[in-house]
Amino acid sequence: MGENGPRFDTLKVRAGHRPEEHSYAVQVPIYQTASFELGDPARADRLLNFDELGYLYSRVGNPTVAALEQRVAALDGAAGAVGLASGMAAVSYTLLNVTDGGGRILTTRSLYGGTTDAFKKVFPRFGVAVDHADAADPASFAAAVRPDTKAIFVESIANPNAEVADLAGLADVAHAHGIPLVVDNTFATPYLLRPIEHGADVVVYSATKGLSGNGSTIAGLVLESGRFDWANGAFPQFTEPAYTLRDRGGPERGFVDITREFPFTLRIRLTHLAYLGAALGPQDAYLVLLGLETLSERVAKQVATTERIVAFLQGHPEVAWVAHPSAAGSPSAALAARYLPRGAGGVLSFGLRGDPARAEAVIAASRLFSYQANVGDARSLVINSSRTTHGELDPAEQALAGIREETIRLSIGLEDPDDLVGDLDQAIAKAAADLPLTVA
Ligand SMILES: *Cc1c(COP(=O)(O)O)cnc(C)c1O
Repeated sequence: MGENGPRFDTLKVRAGHRPEEHSYAVQVPIYQTASFELGDPARADRLLNFDELGYLYSRVGNPTVAALEQRVAALDGAAGAVGLASGMAAVSYTLLNVTDGGGRILTTRSLYGGTTDAFKKVFPRFGVAVDHADAADPASFAAAVRPDTKAIFVESIANPNAEVADLAGLADVAHAHGIPLVVDNTFATPYLLRPIEHGADVVVYSATKGLSGNGSTIAGLVLESGRFDWANGAFPQFTEPAYTLRDRGGPERGFVDITREFPFTLRIRLTHLAYLGAALGPQDAYLVLLGLETLSERVAKQVATTERIVAFLQGHPEVAWVAHPSAAGSPSAALAARYLPRGAGGVLSFGLRGDPARAEAVIAASRLFSYQANVGDARSLVINSSRTTHGELDPAEQALAGIREETIRLSIGLEDPDDLVGDLDQAIAKAAADLPLTVA
């Protein structure tokens, strides 16, 4: 970026919107319409044959949603994007698209709780099995790839301990086996990390979190690099004739015949979005666009405040451990230095010494941190992961995911850092007074 066009901070307020195409409206208009005029039958034919690009029906495409898709694609250096009603729709449609009714996904234990649940309870019923390896160790992935593995799926910064994945190493493993690397980049946002630059083929977002940053709406996106060869023989769903694609009297076309640049997101749009229907509304897309305008400024401040809070916690005598790549001695420090030069994001976890019930006491005593399951909000948030976001996991699975009974996860917002440190200090003091360490 930069050499060939506008830089990141220019793209985040301008990409995907040309005012001259929208009555010179400076802000992206909200196209609150279910459907679009086809014009005349000849134009309808052109639209349905992909000879002319245009809008038909807002379930599969809407100009406000398209502005969001193009803006995030520009920020991530992606060739194609599709906006969806939630991050879970983005994760699910992506994995349904890549597996198409069978095969295996190779992933890690450290994932968003909803994704872990879906891997356990939903995907097996769609014929998709799940294997696990260690995201920081590409060799463990190479050893776990099987003949019917269809994709490697990781979070660039994992939940809740902020472990960093070795994306370039994982991309090498995936590509050596002819499969794509899919990265959930929700915690990092493109401000901190652009996975496509490190070899990722598909990037998914919950835009509910840091991308929008206001905690105002539920939204998701899927992006693709345009570099993966979906015609390599292992993914017939992209080459075989698709009944959703019209032909003009010739042989029926597959998705790679329509576009080599973005067949993955086009197939999600015309298959999963069209028939499973988790469409993003234009109002919600607009809220995400508004939030994106301040992405860099927000995330930079959240990173700085997070690093200050990590240092405060590491220096606190009641704190047993702190998990964030900026923490002294973090196992993710080297990978963070390589992939996250602007910082490792605003989510961290920590535990106090002594009774695990002190975690609940800290949450009860905090006056400033909101107790809720979201992350990436303008407000700072706190949660006891083992009982809430990851409560569906049994104790052994929680241990594998690095979640302990005493884990307290924080998502740092935009408040004054002194207020946040002061609130944690008083909440920890109260928990320590209520549940003193037992003297041996
Ligand atoms: C929240 C989240 C999701 C799910 O997104 P929703 O918008 O809540 O559906 C997926 N992945 C990660 C990493 C998340 O934090």
